[in-house]
Amino acid sequence: MSLNFEQKVIKILGQDRAFWDPATKLCYSLDGYPVQKHTPRAVAMPETNKEVQALVRLCLEEGVPILPRGAGTCLSGGATPPKTPCLLIEMARMQKILSWSPEDRTAIVQSGMVNLDLSVIVGKKGLYYAPDPSSQKASTIGGNLAENAGGPHCFKYGMTADHILGVRFVDGRGEMVVADLEDGPDLVGLFTGSEGTFGVATEVKVRLSKSPEMVRTFLASFSSMEAACGTVSRIVREGIVPAALEILDHLTIEAVEASVFAAGYPKDAEAVLLIELDGPRDEVEADSPKVVKILKEEHPLAVESTTDAEQRQSLWKGRKGAFGAMGRLKPNIFVLDGVVPTSKLASVLSKVAEIGKKYNIVLSNVFHAGDGNLHPNLSFDGRDPSETRRAMEAGLEILELCVMSGGSISGEHGIGYEKREAMRYMFDEADLSAFRELRRCFDPRGVCNPGKFFPTGGGCKEGRSAKSSEGLDV
Ligand SMILES: Cc1cc2nc3c(=O)[nH]c(=O)nc-3n(C[C@H](O)[C@H](O)[C@H](O)COP(=O)(O)OP(=O)(O)OC[C@H]3O[C@@H](n4cnc5c(N)ncnc54)[C@H](O)[C@@H]3O)c2cc1C
Repeated sequence: MSLNFEQKVIKILGQDRAFWDPATKLCYSLDGYPVQKHTPRAVAMPETNKEVQALVRLCLEEGVPILPRGAGTCLSGGATPPKTPCLLIEMARMQKILSWSPEDRTAIVQSGMVNLDLSVIVGKKGLYYAPDPSSQKASTIGGNLAENAGGPHCFKYGMTADHILGVRFVDGRGEMVVADLEDGPDLVGLFTGSEGTFGVATEVKVRLSKSPEMVRTFLASFSSMEAACGTVSRIVREGIVPAALEILDHLTIEAVEASVFAAGYPKDAEAVLLIELDGPRDEVEADSPKVVKILKEEHPLAVESTTDAEQRQSLWKGRKGAFGAMGRLKPNIFVLDGVVPTSKLASVLSKVAEIGKKYNIVLSNVFHAGDGNLHPNLSFDGRDPSETRRAMEAGLEILELCVMSGGSISGEHGIGYEKREAMRYMFDEADLSAFRELRRCFDPRGVCNPGKFFPTGGGCKEGRSAKSSEGLDV
């Protein structure tokens, strides 16, 4: 008797790691981009490289799309199932550290390992994994790799791409590919940021960093966003390289302070700026007075600073919990991810505020100021189609503004469903077909995470309305 697709998945994994009941499928129907939602055909939880390869080969035989999934914290719809019901390959059962060498400062981990867990384990030897997305308590090394994730400390230490030394992945042809930074063309760089469209990463070799000898965190509050942004610009201009430069605006401060993430940020401030210096003691002690001098000249409302680990954590608590606190503003949030030159932060933010008013949308800002990586947060009620549409249109206009200001549509959250039409703001047809050609090398049949990344052919606004057609986008 011939087996159907679901029975073949069971044959590979056994009964207890394959799911297609409606409740499980509903749980996997979207990620942190609250606008698009599709249920997968089935959810598979492999434990070995061989099982992943067998699942990909089965999907190829049966013409079923594949969606690799880490923790589902993606904010651009990358981890939302495609419209054609897919096999969702959930990596949660592959989260072991396979080997690590404190001497070489490297580790090989399974791709489902949670980012912060890695730092906790290697922390015993005075090491840590530097890329620290604010989702690091949940998001996985594989998801970070696929999105080239950033984080508050990436201003000084670089993005995920700067910390990846090798990847083992099953590509869209069902082949096991081993990419090593030291060997041949830079396949590691190519795979990083490919958003699940090349295949499923199973193992990742990462660079570990030495924990800094000293860390000093400053919290400065300002009576205007311009003054906070001006301070960031001056710090960057004067060649100081803090580990982090993060800004929260007034509305975010209000939401944070009313929530369980309250960190004691002054509620009368229009903006707060977190500045973190880290490194050798001498370096931090030399840079601290320079930061204090700049702060004094920019007339903050108040400044506090600490080197105490517990107090530092409480200063960061509000920033790290900011997105969670946004639920106080409206039921849904759409987090944008545009980038602009740091010298233009203040002027772009004032235009962003105008766009929010034009579309009558609640808009707040919490962002990686040192990288010029803005996160305008559009709060809306997804049950209201008009408000949802206005939020989407405002988002698109803000991304266009970022590009017009000399920046880009994404700093770290990827393209996914959210920004696929906005790709046209930055890339012409020749660029896009080069990207498609490249993808075909790994996924000639377009089975891996179809429908993401590439524009659908409609205009930007049509695409954003999420009504555009979607097939396997080879
Ligand atoms: C509260 C909050 C704060 C955040 N802060 C930041 C931040 O500071 N910086 C930042 O960059 N992002 C941030 N994000 C976004 C998100 O956490 C990152 O994009 C993260 O890298 C996603 O990891 P994940 O494990 O959740 O992946 P998922 O969301 O599951 O997947 C993301 C993409 O990666 C692909 N993928 C996942 N695993 C694999 C794999 N093994 N092989 C191939 N492809 C795979 C998926 O197909 C999908 O396209 C934040 C999100 C939230 C909810």
